[in-house]
Amino acid sequence: MALYGAPVWAEHLNAQTRALLRSPQRSMALRIIRGYRTISCEAALILARTPPWDLEARVLSEIYYRTVEFKQRGDRVSLELTTRWRRQARIIIMRTWEDRLATPTAGRAVAAAFRPHLETWITHCKGTLTFRMVQMFTGHGCFGHYLHCTARREPTTQCHHCDHGDDTAQHTLEDCPAWAEQRAVLCATIGYDLSLPAIVTAMVRSSQGYDAIADFCEAVISQKEAAEREREADVAADPVRRRRGGRRRAIHERQLPP
Ligand SMILES: [Zn+2]
Repeated sequence: MALYGAPVWAEHLNAQTRALLRSPQRSMALRIIRGYRTISCEAALILARTPPWDLEARVLSEIYYRTVEFKQRGDRVSLELTTRWRRQARIIIMRTWEDRLATPTAGRAVAAAFRPHLETWITHCKGTLTFRMVQMFTGHGCFGHYLHCTARREPTTQCHHCDHGDDTAQHTLEDCPAWAEQRAVLCATIGYDLSLPAIVTAMVRSSQGYDAIADFCEAVISQKEAAEREREADVAADPVRRRRGGRRRAIHERQLPP
């Protein structure tokens, strides 16, 4: 429905109307990936494998006007021809999207990691992205850094599973000693480079890599979630972590995955 009448408006989008298109697409993408609502539009669209609608609209417009031109000349527009146009248009969409992701306004880490593999990720990589993988790729999830700096639910960024002062997704992946066993299993499959670009490369290269990363995220994040639930239940023991109520509860619930 969002692309209804695209040939009429696709070439007349400005920053304001483009933002109007982005907002509902971001909401839909967040629902698809079941990500936290603080995730940027750029990251959400990549993870949901949905090209920006303004690019899709330009393709629809291009095909429409080509069809009109052919018909005005009295030429027949065959299914084969429109299929070829769509294929060509798809290539243009992906290249334009890749160009945009070279200088993203947000979601830089996700954009940098996925951009070299965008075509493969969107069209060929069949694995299911779990919401725990989304947490690991975006850093928006059960990490001290996120819970303190963005969600405002923790008094510090401290890792609760070791004495590290900044619990990020990368700390969880690469360093936290609490997950050494799970990390050893992961490294046995994908190697010892656990940077986000290396993780994404391993994931799109083979189903074994994909499964190993999914297993790591499920095993580790589920334990971090359980530990967080325990801390939430133990609010009386820590006066800084008071139970959320009223406005704080509403803010917290808005940040949870849909
Ligand atoms: Zn740690």
